Order: sequence, then structure tokens, then C-alpha cells
Amino acid sequence: MYDSENIFAKIIRGEIPCDKVYEDDKVLAFNDISPAAAKHVLVIPKGDYISFDDFAANADGAEVSNFFAKVKQIANDIGLSGSGYRLITNHGSDASQTVPHFHVHILGGQALGGLIPGDANVR
Ligand code: AMP
Repeated sequence: MYDSENIFAKIIRGEIPCDKVYEDDKVLAFNDISPAAAKHVLVIPKGDYISFDDFAANADGAEVSNFFAKVKQIANDIGLSGSGYRLITNHGSDASQTVPHFHVHILGGQALGGLIPGDANVR
């Protein structure tokens, strides 16, 4: 069940502020409040999706396609297309998802190192 009181739902409704990077009728992007890299932007759909797993299962093809096109556009707009960037999306407890509204992290602006910090041998 989607929790409409989660913090990103409140940001979408304008009940709490965010450091906005991009917004249209379907997508919102804002700087992460606790950045893990020199550039760290969160991109979220405005629909009620708990995680990537929910979004991939329940959003229609046009919405999925539009969302990822916007992720690419935002990565370009914040200057990361040339130097590179990493996308992360966490689903569920093993991935340590903390906010139950689907979001993609765009990370970049510095060399990001191995896939999972501190766990170079775990693949
Ligand atoms: P995850 O662990 O994948 O669920 O990521 C949640 C992210 O949301 C974390 O990187 C937090 O720093 C970030 N976050 C939590 N609250 C806010 C907020 N009010 N504004 C911006 N980012 C937030």
C-alpha cells in the first residue's frame, strides 16, 4: 500500500520545500538533502509508486519511457553527460530504501569508485 504521508509525497504536494532542479506535470527532480557525491539529484514521478518494482509493474509504457527520458535530460542539464554519472534506485529492505516513493538517484561530479563502496569483492 502506498503511504501518501511519505516525505516525497509531501514534497510533490508542496507541503514541504525542496531544492528543485526540474519539474513538469509528471516528474519532479530536486537535490538530495544529504548528498553522497558532488552532484546528487533525486528524480521522482508524481504518480503514487512505492519503488522501481511497483513503477515497472504498474506504470504504463509511455509513463516509464517519459520518466527515463527525463532522467537522461536532467543528467545532461546538470552537466554530467560528458564526465559520466551513476543511477541508483533502491527497492526494499536489502537495498536500504528509506523513502517509499519511487526515486532514481543521479550521482556524479566526481569519480565515484566501485559499484558498492567498501565491498569491491562482493559482486
Ligand atoms: P533511499 O535510501 O534510496 O530511499 O534514498 C532516499 C534519499 O532521500 C536519501 O538519499 C535522503 O538523503 C533523501 N532525502 C530524504 N529526505 C529528503 C528531503 N526532504 N529532501 C531531499 N532529499 C531527501
